[in-house]
Amino acid sequence: MSERKEIYAAFGISDAVRCLGDEVLAGLSSRFRVMDETAEINSLKVIHAMQSARVSESCLYGSTGYGYNDTGRDTLEAVYAHVFGTEDALVRPQIVSGTHALSVALGAVLRPGDVLLSLTGKPSDTLESVIGIREAEGSLAEYGVSYTQLDLAPDGGFDKEGCLRILKEDRDKRIRMAAIQKSRGYQTRPTFSAEEIGDMIRCVKEVRPDIVCMVDNCYGEFVERTEPAFHGADLLVGSLIKNPGGGLAPSGGYIAGKAVLVEKAAHRLTAPGLGKEVGASLQVLPSYYQGLFLAPTVTASALKGAVFAAALYEALRERTGLNVQAYPDADAPRYDIIQALTFHNPEAVKAFCEGIQAAAPVDSFVKPEPSPMPGYDSEVIMAAGTFIGGSSIELSADGPMREPYSVFFQGGLIFPHATLGILKTVQTLSEYGIFDLKTIQ
Ligand SMILES: *Cc1c(COP(=O)(O)O)cnc(C)c1O
Repeated sequence: MSERKEIYAAFGISDAVRCLGDEVLAGLSSRFRVMDETAEINSLKVIHAMQSARVSESCLYGSTGYGYNDTGRDTLEAVYAHVFGTEDALVRPQIVSGTHALSVALGAVLRPGDVLLSLTGKPSDTLESVIGIREAEGSLAEYGVSYTQLDLAPDGGFDKEGCLRILKEDRDKRIRMAAIQKSRGYQTRPTFSAEEIGDMIRCVKEVRPDIVCMVDNCYGEFVERTEPAFHGADLLVGSLIKNPGGGLAPSGGYIAGKAVLVEKAAHRLTAPGLGKEVGASLQVLPSYYQGLFLAPTVTASALKGAVFAAALYEALRERTGLNVQAYPDADAPRYDIIQALTFHNPEAVKAFCEGIQAAAPVDSFVKPEPSPMPGYDSEVIMAAGTFIGGSSIELSADGPMREPYSVFFQGGLIFPHATLGILKTVQTLSEYGIFDLKTIQ
């Protein structure tokens, strides 16, 4: 035990903080067992998909130039389709981010005069420009695509009556596509389970089977034992520097779904007439395959980190009176990997981000500072000492410097790193005098 004590001390973590962490962890073992079992099932599904698609060593080689006959790329896309329960998939480094993947999927389906309906209220910030909610060059609005938003019910759930009303009012059937965001992202509303997403899709399809239902699956992959396509989603979209890249994918995104829709997305991504046949995979395939192989256990590590942080800060609130609210709370079911902590105190947000940064394997000596960010109306402080630039499946935190002074944090490729980062945040808060370390025993 003294070896453990020494190595935590080398990071400046006191006995009091480490012992509180151990106590909180002991209470989470049954919860963690369920997460490990989910990771086990999802890992076996991934291996099974790789075997079914007959992944071979030659699949790892990749291609250059146009990328014709890139069997490694095509096989990987078959593996993704199998894992996500879809007919086909695009999994490519030419998709530069999650926002780009969503933009391609929307642009693939929507035509001038069509209406896009969001079923889950306001979409993530970066999609506002894509849709044209915020004026932007090349937005869907510029191409004559309109947007309608169904706000969430007061309890944060899906407003079924509201949905049926919008569909009924759409007499000339202009609504072509419905968008569902699984993760709360950086908002405070519940994240939706795959099953709840299935209920939304059923509600739409019973009245209007022609509407394409797309799920923004960012941060949700492998958290559950089932993905939204098993519950009727036509298209699933996400980023490879989040869950499915397993921390190894250096860049990229995916679009999985019905074959005809993936085909449309391919023509939108490359060029009309070219589609899926082009797009060199360059050197990324080993990291895409191995990243997917690791993704279920990496996601479980991140999930454990989120639950540990919620439980630890709830314990701190009880013992020291620290003003903090975990969202979701420690006992809540999880459908994504994001954890929010609300402090109502800008110093606490800064201290938290400093703690995460100080625990990083890369750039641990950097002190994060709040700075202006495009698309935000306040300064934002960010902590990320990541191997892959901007990767948020790696332990990272963001705090918009405005009321209610919340930090959103996520990731952790391995649970020991998530643990270290979270303990370091507590230690740093105590050093800022935000709570009194002597009161935590
Ligand atoms: C991360 C994310 C996106 C896409 O963001 P990128 O930074 O462009 O990859 C979209 N929606 C949600 C809910 C996200 O979490």
